[in-house]
Amino acid sequence: MAKVCIICEKEVAGGMRVEDDFVIRAIRSVKRRFGWAKNNELYVCHGCHDAYRKKRANYERDLAIHVILAAVVLVATAALPLFGGGFNIASLVLGVLLAAIIIGLSLFSHIPKASGNGGGAAHAKANVRGAGAKAKRGRRE
Ligand SMILES: [Zn+2]
Repeated sequence: MAKVCIICEKEVAGGMRVEDDFVIRAIRSVKRRFGWAKNNELYVCHGCHDAYRKKRANYERDLAIHVILAAVVLVATAALPLFGGGFNIASLVLGVLLAAIIIGLSLFSHIPKASGNGGGAAHAKANVRGAGAKAKRGRRE
């Protein structure tokens, strides 16, 4: 299996290993079905660490905004009919669909988590801190 950097898309010797999340698994299973699977191992190479961190931060912010938007849409479509004097299942279904589409849109800019074996002692320390912050985020999500 080739190791490929997800940022520069070049083959790399090593770097931060990208964690398989449900988006990557979903993409893989679709690709396998159509016979497009390359089965590359996904990495972030040393040269792309900074670019990756920026992209990942952007993605996390985008995802948060999309989730809030989806929640607002859901609440609005669920609550508005109540003011109009009745529960409306059609508008609730529409709201759920809209919310799913809004969250789905954020997946186009999906940047997976990466962690790993990047280099010297300073790197290792940073990674430990990163892992801690990530665990906290994981519990919130
Ligand atoms: Zn790279």
